[in-house]
Amino acid sequence: MRISIIGAGPAGSYAASLLAKQGHEVHVFEDHDEIGVPVQCTGIVTGALWDLIPKEPSIIRTELTSVKVHGPSQHAEVRLHEYVLDRAGLDKHIAKLARQAGAKFHLGHRFIGFGKNTVKVRHNGKEREFPTDITIGADGPNSEVAKAAGIWAQRQVWGGVQATIRGDYDPHRFEVFFNRDFDRFFAWVVPESATIARIGIASQKKAREMFERITQRYPGKFVGWQSGPIPIYEKRIPVQNKERTVFLVGDAAGLVKATTGGGIITGMVSSRILADCIVKKKDYAKALKPLRKDLALHRLIRRMLNTFTDRDYDRMIRCLANPRLQAVLYNHHRDFPSKFLLKAILVEPRLLIFGQNFIKQLRLPADGVSYA
Ligand SMILES: Cc1cc2nc3c(=O)[nH]c(=O)nc-3n(C[C@H](O)[C@H](O)[C@H](O)COP(=O)(O)OP(=O)(O)OC[C@H]3O[C@@H](n4cnc5c(N)ncnc54)[C@H](O)[C@@H]3O)c2cc1C
Repeated sequence: MRISIIGAGPAGSYAASLLAKQGHEVHVFEDHDEIGVPVQCTGIVTGALWDLIPKEPSIIRTELTSVKVHGPSQHAEVRLHEYVLDRAGLDKHIAKLARQAGAKFHLGHRFIGFGKNTVKVRHNGKEREFPTDITIGADGPNSEVAKAAGIWAQRQVWGGVQATIRGDYDPHRFEVFFNRDFDRFFAWVVPESATIARIGIASQKKAREMFERITQRYPGKFVGWQSGPIPIYEKRIPVQNKERTVFLVGDAAGLVKATTGGGIITGMVSSRILADCIVKKKDYAKALKPLRKDLALHRLIRRMLNTFTDRDYDRMIRCLANPRLQAVLYNHHRDFPSKFLLKAILVEPRLLIFGQNFIKQLRLPADGVSYA
């Protein structure tokens, strides 16, 4: 089968590697001339990445062993084991795996629409058509593939703004700031070494203003800027057309965690699910259910956090200081809360103080379910 993948981010190239390995003729079309550039990401991932691809030391900038969580007047240090990646390096590495499996990459090729059993791309100002049986939209939050296939749906998009700033950092600890100053999200300081950190904020509104608030605390020299849209999982949106010839993965399908704005792992998981469905002729929308369940839990936690007062944030920090809760968190990847949320509540029943908010959120009307 001839498969066209639009976008050579982690979701697109990972799908390419899996499908090429199965003997399909895979073509990846990427708008930019260089894979992974420009970077619009902090590049922090859990060890769940190495369940998807073999661990690759050359793309790890630093290993994190703890996070310092700041509330309005308290803080807690939580043990973990996560990774700060060279994000462009990650994209290039997955593309290399896909090439090794036989996928062909067409850089500087922008998808502009569909023809009759073809994808149309623009390259060096000229339009070209490539025959296709299946097309995968891995083209990020503004997916042109979704629009051209008639399966585009509005999604909730946050603005992420980040700078890389010189300073003096602990290279194995990152910091997050929760308080009403960073309304409806949080600010982060993620080291990539002892002298450089990625400092940023994501928010539905006033991202720039909040970004200035956090960077004022770190007066070092700015050595880089990144910003970009983050399509957080808020409701189910279509991920395939009726004919099942066009599919969406990763940010194009809005599969980003609403707690943190992280979408690398969940995007790659969606690619793995899709590749399996194509090979075994299964329904992708149905097969996404377990991933959606975890994303819905992230959404629930986000909705609860959005109702927090400064007092609630401080209460949460006190819960995080509990060593038994820390052990549960340490032993699970935070991408998949369905695997540990109950255990967390059992070892730290004070989390149920927030249950009232949970229940209020559960009573909200269900999503408008409208996917193929
Ligand atoms: C400031 C910021 C910080 C973030 N930090 C983290 C983090 O720490 N951890 C984490 O897990 N996630 C993070 N994210 C989210 C993460 O970057 C995305 O979820 C992830 O990149 C999604 O991967 P993807 O392959 O679906 O899409 P993308 O990485 O967006 O790749 C899409 C690709 O498609 C190409 N493309 C687009 N349109 C076309 C077209 N018409 N034709 C051809 N090619 C096209 C693009 O050039 C791009 O290469 C962050 C996002 C932002 C904005």
